[in-house]
Amino acid sequence: MCGIVGYMGKQQAFPILIKGLQRLEYRGYDSAGVALVNENGDLNVYKTKGKVSDLENFCADKDITGTVGIAHTRWATHGEPSKRNAHPHYSQSKNIALIHNGIIENYLTIKKFLISKGYTFQSETDTEVLCQLIEYMMQEHNLTLYDAVYQALKQVTGAYSIGVIERNNPNTIITSKMSSPLVIGVGREEFLLGSDASAIIEFTKNVIYPKDGQVIRIERGKEIEICCLEDREQKIKPEIQQIQLSLEDIEKGGFDHFMLKEIFEQPKSLSLCMNGRLQREKKEIILNGIQEYGDVFAKARRIIISACGTSWHAGLIGKYLFEALCRIPVEVEVASEFRYRNPVIYPDDVFIAISQSGETADTLAAMELAKKQGAFIYGICNVVGSSVARLTDSGTYTHAGPEIGVASTKAFTTQVCVLVMMALSLAKQLKTIKDEDYHRIVTELCNIEAKIEKIFEKKDEIKEMSKIFTYARNFLYLGRGYNYPVAMEGALKLKEISYIHAEGYPAAEMKHGPIALIDEEMPIVVVAPHYHLYNKILSNVQEVKARKGRIIAIVTEGDTEIKKQTDYYIEIPKTEECLSPILSVIPLQLLSYYIAVAKGRDVDKPRNLAKSVTVE
Ligand code: GLU
Repeated sequence: MCGIVGYMGKQQAFPILIKGLQRLEYRGYDSAGVALVNENGDLNVYKTKGKVSDLENFCADKDITGTVGIAHTRWATHGEPSKRNAHPHYSQSKNIALIHNGIIENYLTIKKFLISKGYTFQSETDTEVLCQLIEYMMQEHNLTLYDAVYQALKQVTGAYSIGVIERNNPNTIITSKMSSPLVIGVGREEFLLGSDASAIIEFTKNVIYPKDGQVIRIERGKEIEICCLEDREQKIKPEIQQIQLSLEDIEKGGFDHFMLKEIFEQPKSLSLCMNGRLQREKKEIILNGIQEYGDVFAKARRIIISACGTSWHAGLIGKYLFEALCRIPVEVEVASEFRYRNPVIYPDDVFIAISQSGETADTLAAMELAKKQGAFIYGICNVVGSSVARLTDSGTYTHAGPEIGVASTKAFTTQVCVLVMMALSLAKQLKTIKDEDYHRIVTELCNIEAKIEKIFEKKDEIKEMSKIFTYARNFLYLGRGYNYPVAMEGALKLKEISYIHAEGYPAAEMKHGPIALIDEEMPIVVVAPHYHLYNKILSNVQEVKARKGRIIAIVTEGDTEIKKQTDYYIEIPKTEECLSPILSVIPLQLLSYYIAVAKGRDVDKPRNLAKSVTVE
């Protein structure tokens, strides 16, 4: 998830582009870059690793003149954060420059084709492939930039918003979008591009929000021209709207907090996470890490998963997944304990580290220990090129996009999603899963984003419910099987942001202690979707009810039995049991969010916490 900016007008583009990048820096800051066409028809590209301020310093002694330009702040998905992977990317002849936000799914196929045509590549990114393909279209078919972008985009699959400019042509910017955000600002004799309106709001409030599949030519002194990928002849009339929001509202995408924005981003993050891995038509999962190293997992004595906090909860779900689907024994370890315990690690163990930031100090130390003792190291993290990514033998990025809210939400669901994809593709290789079971679960995985959207329809209901429970000083969260770690995650969310004490417990363990806490004051959240332990958890609900606890149940749509026992319930759609954590955690995230807001807490910056825990 990077930030893109563009400018064409009467002013010098550079300061406007830099300002726009600064506004978009929340979207990523692995590297920054700018491309400008100056009066002499030069196309200058400057880029640096790091922040926008590094780019500014780097450009201090460069020719930064030009009234047209594009700029980018990167959040790497393909290729480590580095200067050569930074955008804008030049084409081979250096005649065009391109910025991109998103992922070109079929970049490898196109790259092979272009290499066969004599193209060479300077970066490891998917983006450069699109830039070269545009040049190929221009040269091979003698097309204008606009037509070449159109033809190139017809060849690519994936997500993108792009900006493209051309040497010797200070009068044109071509832009387009597919599943990535893009806004065009229309000022007086000037045009701007942005990933969101924060990048351009200072200059104009008149904007166009292009739709997916539209390809747009912005030309000096002319009307904006829009055509559709599906039908070149279909011309669209640009529809100019006025932005009403303030700058801060825009950065948070209109949500009150980053946490809420990130909760609602989960369908999108999961799509990006599964992009190119879940083959939706073939109902197949192709995960490079497992394709390549499946035999290492097959020979493994056991899997050790190590992580902290929310990632540890995802790891616990991993245990249920790998044991049930792959029949490999799994241990899940809190990294800070594991590292100091002098644990027994065998060279034929597979060690999986999970960390959103990839910089969690305890997880890194646990990894190093396992590596020293010869285990095979697999990483699951969100941030490309992070320390976790560098220490591993193999791994999978979650591609959730930057997570800014301190309480993790989309990091959790995408981590679980990666573990699901790993377990399924491994089970297929090991033949520990029946074809029909594999097919059924993969089919359900294809529907998971839509099912989360359905839970969002209940947000007002959950908000109302949260008001009833702000009085509580303690909460108990109960779950069984795959949903026991979800109960722990729900309790952690509540503690983190509302400062209400909460415990997550395996439902049946309750009678060995926590049941003593239950009285008519005590809210008990029971995560009880309808799966094979349903009758067991129903008994646990009755035990709570008998002690007059106030139950909030998370149940499957159409549930009748548990609903009879409680006044408060939230329904979630039915799915496969092993995927249920991805759905059941959503109402818990929303419940803790609304309780914290009702209590006036600083949701995005809860006291005493930090986003990435780089100390032990
Ligand atoms: N896939 C591109 C890269 O890695 C763009 C990244 C993004 O938009 O997140 O450079």
